[in-house]
Amino acid sequence: MVSQFSTIPRRQSQQVAIGHVLVGSESPVVVQSMTNTDTADADGTARQVFELWQAGSELVRITVNSPEAAAQVGLIRRKLDAMGCNVPLIGDFHYNGHKLLAQYPDCAEALAKYRINPGNVGKGSKRDEQFAAMIETAIQYNKPVRIGVNWGSLDQEKMARMMDENAQSANPLSSDALMREALIQSALESAAQAEAIGLASDKIIISCKVSNVQDLVTVYGDLGARCNYPLHLGLTEAGMGSKGIVASTAALSLLLQQGIGDTIRVSLTPQPGESRTTEVVVAQEILQTMGIRSFTPLVTACPGCGRTTSTYFQELAQKIQRYLREQMPIWRSQYPGVETMSVAVMGCVVNGPGESKLANIGISLPGTGETPVAPVFVDGEKTVTLKGDAIAEEFQVIVENYVQK
Ligand code: SF4
Repeated sequence: MVSQFSTIPRRQSQQVAIGHVLVGSESPVVVQSMTNTDTADADGTARQVFELWQAGSELVRITVNSPEAAAQVGLIRRKLDAMGCNVPLIGDFHYNGHKLLAQYPDCAEALAKYRINPGNVGKGSKRDEQFAAMIETAIQYNKPVRIGVNWGSLDQEKMARMMDENAQSANPLSSDALMREALIQSALESAAQAEAIGLASDKIIISCKVSNVQDLVTVYGDLGARCNYPLHLGLTEAGMGSKGIVASTAALSLLLQQGIGDTIRVSLTPQPGESRTTEVVVAQEILQTMGIRSFTPLVTACPGCGRTTSTYFQELAQKIQRYLREQMPIWRSQYPGVETMSVAVMGCVVNGPGESKLANIGISLPGTGETPVAPVFVDGEKTVTLKGDAIAEEFQVIVENYVQK
């Protein structure tokens, strides 16, 4: 079994409470996600938040972009409570957050955290005033905030000032380095401003998201060394399908291995019809395959080759993984520790018995030319040999019995 918490030393950061979820270096790295429903649709949004939570998202962010959306946030919270879902909701604000939070106290109260993008708070003399209004609301309702800077919406007035100064400097930064520095400064100066207004430092989380892996690693390495706020980690606009998954995994893994990152979000563009929960599964699998946290028993399966007689073993591996994932909302509370269990489904005798013995439960299916039997191993010992047409069903029962014991 994989240990529940990794031994990778974490960058030290303060503990921030987002509702009942703690984020900081003394707590496990938290998985979060974001809905893509119209928040004005309270039923649809509550349903998607519930699905994300059931998939294992420990925080869920919803966009609050209009009066119609803000008016529904309290109702969404009450619907979730009625469904037995206590996941903290985070409100994502841009441009009009100061107005919406002031005009909809039910929304300000129902949210467990406010995300503020310093690049989208306002322009010119209005900027500081509107930023202060949001921070004062956070103080009034005792809520934490995330100062969430994004490469695509960097404060343009600040950027212009920094470019002028850089042009006058004896040692000017390259344009890429200047952009990275502008992101970090925007986040840290906004956090300092929030503290000066009166928000406690343990109510602040920071993020500086970019869409390029190497830039993200450089930015967060630098940012992490310059503050002790918890860091929300994510590669923004990672993209679709395998590209988005690979880019997010590469970026987040490099930083998590350095102990950087207190909460993560994997931003994937779903395929039409694809469940939003994919981003939760990917975030969990990044943490679990790195040995940082465990969420769901994972299936080890070989890739298959010319020695496999059919796609039967791939189908069995998928079926078992799907089954394990579907059971987790129930198992999580009934069988603490079940998430660290490992299952192997292997295609032939070459690596089948070896991998099966290393897992808690493993099955080695027969390859080409082998006797059509499937030995099953439990905690390293061969316990039974399955054969016939019901191998998949019988193996699933063995897995269920193991979990219950
Ligand atoms: Fe091929 Fe057997 Fe290896 Fe699977 S375990 S990849 S079927 S040789």
